[in-house]
This record gives sequence, structure tokens and C-alpha cells, in this order.
Amino acid sequence: MRDGPLGVDPLDPLGRPEAALELPGCPACRALPSLEAELVGWFVTQSLADGDGRRRLYAAGGLCARHWHAVANEEMRRRHTMLGTAQVLAEVLTRRSVQGEVPVVCPICEDLEASAANRLYLLLTKLGPAALTGAPLSWRPCLPHLERLRLRRLERWLARWVDERAERCPAEVLAAARRYARTREQRHHHEATGSEAQDLLDAIATLTGPVDHRAGDPPTRPARTRDRRIGR
Ligand SMILES: [Zn+2]
Ligand SMILES: [Zn+2]
Repeated sequence: MRDGPLGVDPLDPLGRPEAALELPGCPACRALPSLEAELVGWFVTQSLADGDGRRRLYAAGGLCARHWHAVANEEMRRRHTMLGTAQVLAEVLTRRSVQGEVPVVCPICEDLEASAANRLYLLLTKLGPAALTGAPLSWRPCLPHLERLRLRRLERWLARWVDERAERCPAEVLAAARRYARTREQRHHHEATGSEAQDLLDAIATLTGPVDHRAGDPPTRPARTRDRRIGR
């Protein structure tokens, strides 16, 4: 497992897993931008110049659109040239003109998903069952990241915890949707607390995970709301 330049785990930036519980939402979704930056940096410094790295790229049919741009920009930033990007892009296009269109299985996207799942697994096992049971309500790994964990061999307690969270998720989203609808209906206006809109957005993020994990956009929320939730 590669770590960032300073050896910081984006899912556990303080090196104290309990602190991760204070940040609302899905810890894996939250870490995607820094995991992605790390992988793009690795790709530019290692894979572009490396025979195995290039072969993997060619076998994959190239990169997704987002990661072509990211790699070109990162190579320019680091090396003041896009020579490596230009070489592999030319090779990918040459192969495509011979072989015809092949589906692209972007290796950076693949590594990003695997890395997020792996870091989430490590975080959960570091936290352990007691900390997870006592986690704040606002701390919720999203359903797609839980489903991804279900593909792994998990310790029995963790498998149970993941199953339970994954099964509870749709009910929580349903409750948030109903609460929002209810407080927006004229006769229930007096029940509105102002938090139901953010609760609905949080619930949707828990259900869907990152809208497009390659887009690298973490689920954002106003700082004000974040502060309020940490205090819960
Ligand atoms: Zn997630
Ligand atoms: Zn990609």
C-alpha cells in the first residue's frame, strides 16, 4: 500500500482513527480527491516511464477522459513537459486504429476504487466494534463503499456490521425523504427545523456514494453545517 508523500492516510489523516468519526458522511468518499491525486502523481512518476506500467495502460485501452487530462496536467506541473503523456497517448491511438474501438478500463479509476475500499477496511478494523457501535449518526460510510467491502473476506464482526449498515441505509434515506416532504407540506410547516434539507442531501449521498467517483468531487456541505454536526 502506497501512502502519500508524507505517509499520511487520507482516511485517517491525524493517525488517530477515532478522529475520523468526527467528520460527517462517508470517510472513503471524503478521501477520494487525495487518493486520486496520489494515484495520478504515482502514474506520472512511475507508470509513464515504466514498461510494466505502460503495458498495463495499453492492455486497458488507455485512460478515461478525466484521467488523460489529470495525467497531462500533472506531468506538465512536475516535469514542465507532456512528453510521456504524448508518447503513451500516441501508442494508445495507434493500437486503437489497428484493433478498432476497445472498451477502456481506466487503470487509475480501478486503482482508486481498490485503494478507497482498502483504506476503508483498514480504518474500520483499526476502529474496532466498540468505536463503530458508538459512532455519531452523522458518520456514515455510503452504500456503494459498503457494498464494495462486502466483496472482501471480512472478519465476522465486521461482516455483520457492514451487512447491518447496508441494510439500514435505504430505511434511513426513506425516513429523510419523508421528513423533508412532510415539513414542506403546508400543514406541517411548523415542524420544520431547517435541517431537513441537509439531512436529505446527506441521506442521498449515503445511498449513492460519489456521484461520479472519477469526478473527484467530494460530497460538500457548507462549513456551518459541518461544524454543527461535529458537535452532535
Ligand atoms: Zn463512500
Ligand atoms: Zn479514470
